Parts: sequence; structure tokens; C-alpha cells
Amino acid sequence: KKIRVGIVFGGRSGEHEVSLSSAKAIMDNLNPEKYEVVPIGITKAGQWLLGTEPAQLLAAGQTVETDNQNANVTSVTFTGDPTLGRLIPLKQGAQLGDNGKLDVIFPVLHGTYGEDGTLQGLLEMANVPYVGCGVLGAAVGMDKEKMKMIFETAGLPNVKYLVYRRNQWERSPEEIMDEIEEQLGYPNFVKPVNLGSSVGINKARNRQELEHAMRVAAEYDRKIIIEQNINCREFECAVLGNDEPLASVVGEVEASNDFYDYNAKYIDNKSTVTIPANLTQQTSEEMRRYAVKAFQALDLNGLSRVDFFIDKDTEKVYINEVNTFPGFTEVSMYPKLWEASGLPYTELLDRLIELALERYEDRQ
Ligand code: ADP
Ligand code: MG
Ligand code: MG
Repeated sequence: KKIRVGIVFGGRSGEHEVSLSSAKAIMDNLNPEKYEVVPIGITKAGQWLLGTEPAQLLAAGQTVETDNQNANVTSVTFTGDPTLGRLIPLKQGAQLGDNGKLDVIFPVLHGTYGEDGTLQGLLEMANVPYVGCGVLGAAVGMDKEKMKMIFETAGLPNVKYLVYRRNQWERSPEEIMDEIEEQLGYPNFVKPVNLGSSVGINKARNRQELEHAMRVAAEYDRKIIIEQNINCREFECAVLGNDEPLASVVGEVEASNDFYDYNAKYIDNKSTVTIPANLTQQTSEEMRRYAVKAFQALDLNGLSRVDFFIDKDTEKVYINEVNTFPGFTEVSMYPKLWEASGLPYTELLDRLIELALERYEDRQ
């Protein structure tokens, strides 16, 4: 009997489009002998779609407007608790067929409402196995401040940073900018705490740019993180597993822009990736050790991509962040790193589903 895999994609985040590309690649590569794929799309407005509409969402590459905005709550039953399963507001009339049961969910969502523990919480309540991190790991992995606090406790090398709440910023911008200038200097990086794909991130080279960058970040989030700039090379390492995670070879990204911004990541196609990265064995081993340590420190499951900087001037290694659901197209770094480590895309998907089922069993 085939395993029924619900692929949840789209979603209410700035990374909606990225999710559509990842989901398409995953659906194209899941072994059809083993799996029956059930696409579940979420529009930008947060409406859940089933049946033929997810395909429209993928094809349109954007929000599908449906006629029924006041969709009734209906008809998803997860393997576990059918009552809770029905809490998910799918469009009225949508059916999952064959008793509507799903064996495992693949949450192919990047960013808020998906990669951040919210969907994971819903799936826990519905008692259904799912790919990737649990609630805690996903939530902490999305919050750049809490993530760094845990890195620090685990002895991982952070870039120096400061965090402010939006209301603090609005109350005393001049004092805050004085403090940033004194403690971090220029250039620095200003980021919304809970986001990804470089959305809302700006490099500030002077006070005027800092003020602008702070305003932009404050529009995206109620918490703003400012980091010292590292004149860096950038590296990424893929981690796979549950309690005994493995690290892939390390890859290097060279951004086509001044830094690896949204445009360099997804639009201009000019950023280059080198796998394995041109590094001494000692340095790549150091990164792989850090990657596993970060994965365990944040209590992650399934998969994560752990990103690093090397300071070009001092050669010091810094951990930048983890991404608990990294880009997953055929050309994305995470699957490519595993391919270079001997695990092709289709087998990587098998392994992720196995890990989801194992974790579910462990928790029963
Ligand atoms: P996201 O989660 O959106 O990917 P990152 O923290 O990884 O956010 O930042 C995006 C990009 O911005 C990085 O890949 C890097 O190019 C640049 N960047 C971020 N922080 C720094 C820093 N402290 N020094 C130098 N470059 C940085
Ligand atoms: Mg990120
Ligand atoms: Mg990043």
C-alpha cells in the first residue's frame, strides 16, 4: 500500500513563491511507486485549498482567488484525531478521498505560519506524523534572537548583535542609533527577527541608511536585530536526522550582489554555488561539527541547513543561522549538498519521510 503524503505549500508568508517552487520539485521527485501525493495549497490570504485548486495555485505562481471566501470548515481527517483534523479550514466540498486519511504531512512552507512552529503545533494536535522540526525547534529556528542566545549557550561562535523592540525604536530612535554606532559601528546588518529569504534585510553604511533600515525592519516585525558586518565568504552545511544527525559536505555561495539578498537568491540567477567548498579539511570539519551541534542545541528534527561566514580578514568562522525548512528545488543548496554527499534527491525525500515516521513513533 502506498504512503499518502500531504504536501502543504504556499502560505501566508513573504516566501510564498519560494514555497511553490520547492513544492513543485518535491512533488515531481517523490517516488510514485511508494507514495500517493495529496497537494494541499494555502493562498496568501490563508485559505486552504484541495482537489484541483492547488494545481492552479502552483501554475499561477501566485494567489488563487476562489469564489468562496467564507469557506466552511470541512473534510480533512488526519490519521489521528478526526475532530481536530477538521479544524483546518479547507474550502467547502474539498475531499481527500479514501476516507480522507493522510499518513504523513510534508510542510513545504518557508517563513511565518509554516516554518515557525505554528503549523507544527496544529499537526501535533491533529496527531499526524510530519516532516521536519517540531514546534520548539521550528519556533526557535525562526527567531534570530532566541536562536543566537541558544548558539551562545552551546558555545557556537556568533556575530556580535543587538536586539530592539519596535516600540523602543519608535520611542527613542536617536539613542538606539547612538548605541548601535558605538557598539557595532558601520557597516552593519539590520534584520527583522522572524523572517527569511533576506526579506526586510538591509546593510547600513551610515546613520541615514541605518535609520531607513531600522524603519524597514520594523515594518516586518516587532523585533529588530542588528549585527556587526562581517566581510565574509558564505558557506552552508546540510544536516539530516533526528537524534543522531549527519552533516553533509560544505558548500560555498557567492552572491551576485553586495550581499545575498532576495534578488541574488531567487531573481537574477547569477549567484554561484561551489560544492564541495574550497576549504581546508580542518575548516570544513569544524563547520560540520558546528552544524550538528547547532541542530542538537535547537532540538531540531529531520532537516536543517546551517549557514556560516568566514571573515576574509581574520579567517574566523561564525555561525549565521539555521533554516529549518530550506529551499528545496532541484537546484537548491540543501538537496545539492546531499547529492554531493551520495544521497540523490528522491532518496533524500524517502529518508525525510522515514525520519518523520520514526519521530512520530518515538513520541507515542
Ligand atoms: P535570512 O534568514 O533572510 O537568509 P540572513 O541572516 O541569512 O537572513 O541574512 C541574509 C544575507 O545577508 C546573508 O546570507 C548574508 O549575505 C548577509 N548577511 C547577513 N548578516 C550578515 C553579517 N552580519 N555580515 C555580513 N553579511 C551578512
Ligand atoms: Mg534564514
Ligand atoms: Mg540566510
